[in-house]
Amino acid sequence: MANSGAAPRPTVLWMDEAPAQGEPAAPLPLEVDVLVVGAGYTGLSAARETAGAGRSTLVLDAADAGAGCSSRNGGQVAYSIKPSLEDLTARHGADLAFRICAEGHRALKHLRDLAVEQNLDCDWRPCGGFHGAHTPRQFAAMAALAEHQPRGLEQRVRVVPKAEQHREIGSDFYHGGCVYEDDASVDPRRLLLALLRRATAAGATVVDRCPATAIQPTRAGFEVRTARGVIAAKKVLLATNGYSGPLSPWHRRRVIPIGSYQIATEPLGVERVRALIPQGRNVSDTRRVVVYYRPSPDGERLVFGGRASLGETDPLVCVPRLRTMMSQIFPQLESVGISHAWVGWVAYTFDTLPHLGRHEGLYYCMGYCGQGVALAPYFGMRIGQQIADLPEGATALDGLPFPTRPYYFGRPWFLAPSVFFYRLLDSIGI
Ligand SMILES: Cc1cc2nc3c(=O)[nH]c(=O)nc-3n(C[C@H](O)[C@H](O)[C@H](O)COP(=O)(O)OP(=O)(O)OC[C@H]3O[C@@H](n4cnc5c(N)ncnc54)[C@H](O)[C@@H]3O)c2cc1C
Repeated sequence: MANSGAAPRPTVLWMDEAPAQGEPAAPLPLEVDVLVVGAGYTGLSAARETAGAGRSTLVLDAADAGAGCSSRNGGQVAYSIKPSLEDLTARHGADLAFRICAEGHRALKHLRDLAVEQNLDCDWRPCGGFHGAHTPRQFAAMAALAEHQPRGLEQRVRVVPKAEQHREIGSDFYHGGCVYEDDASVDPRRLLLALLRRATAAGATVVDRCPATAIQPTRAGFEVRTARGVIAAKKVLLATNGYSGPLSPWHRRRVIPIGSYQIATEPLGVERVRALIPQGRNVSDTRRVVVYYRPSPDGERLVFGGRASLGETDPLVCVPRLRTMMSQIFPQLESVGISHAWVGWVAYTFDTLPHLGRHEGLYYCMGYCGQGVALAPYFGMRIGQQIADLPEGATALDGLPFPTRPYYFGRPWFLAPSVFFYRLLDSIGI
């Protein structure tokens, strides 16, 4: 099927196989050792550690568990610390910079170990990733970086010149690129459900559709108001990432929610998809306004994502723009049908690093800047260990200042001009 003529549905492809469960509401305890707000990869990974360490643990989600990014992402797994070692060295000195980058490698290894050694059911595929260069200058820069990787932080990278890129991609859009051999893909929804099972198997209780509406400090910890009653908690973790609303104004001033949009084509047939991405890898490119795509797990569709808008809440509105972005790379897909379209809110930070720690007694872990599939399970685990007072919870990011900006209160008024400027730079090839 190439175009059935049917309109796209505003639903997440990954949910077709494993829709939200709609479990009957579990009774709420009156008090717990640890209350986690947000049942995504971060919150569930933290809860597994605190429950496993013998702390009574309750995880609340405003919607269904995993209703945020953790069931909506592209399932692309890569080394995901955004700033370069060079940038981090200028900001934090060489030693800390190295240790922050090393955390990114540990996060990737952590997810690989969970999937491969502990058989976490998440459709782990060690497919590798192709990163395309959108200009010859970007190609030269990425090839130089690949050949001079910082010692001790090496990734398995292979440079692919333009003349050979058809082995990686059925497109002439790029000027060569690099293959990152250690990148992998997962089914994001299956990963979420597997982490949910791990948390509950360790003894955590997860309650859906129960938003936390206020968090007040008390002598013994916190009082958390919820839609279904008040709970006393010795410790509270905010694991709300791009969905951090007014619950904690301090955190809201530090994360920038940005919409990330995806579409899935109608089934194109395995052969046709293989002609687009012959090695079945994840693909992204060097443009500042991000695009990322991959074959669906069954190999029948292309799943294509990007920053098609900043704040549009209706994913169907973004379908024409995503289709244009997709056809720029693959003109052969100009008239294919789109079956699914969805959006989720990722959390950027002003220094493009994730942040975890404690502010006025409240624990937090968030800010993966759109790349949390490996980072969120890892840092979620670490913050859970910190909450349980386990020494292995320490990370290189502990104690880093969590910056905000003057006049920023959670509504990113500055994004539209910046993205306009980035699009301009991308289009003129800078
Ligand atoms: C379209 C899209 C594509 C992406 N693709 C990739 C990718 O390919 N690779 C990659 O590495 N990353 C990707 N990401 C990012 C990645 O999905 C996230 O970084 C990661 O899932 C964050 O997990 P989390 O648990 O911190 O947050 P989330 O999964 O967003 O969970 C936060 C939860 O908090 C809940 N919540 C908020 N407020 C309250 C409240 N008051 N009370 C109770 N609950 C509350 C929300 O309902 C939500 O379920 C993508 C994201 C999107 C949206």
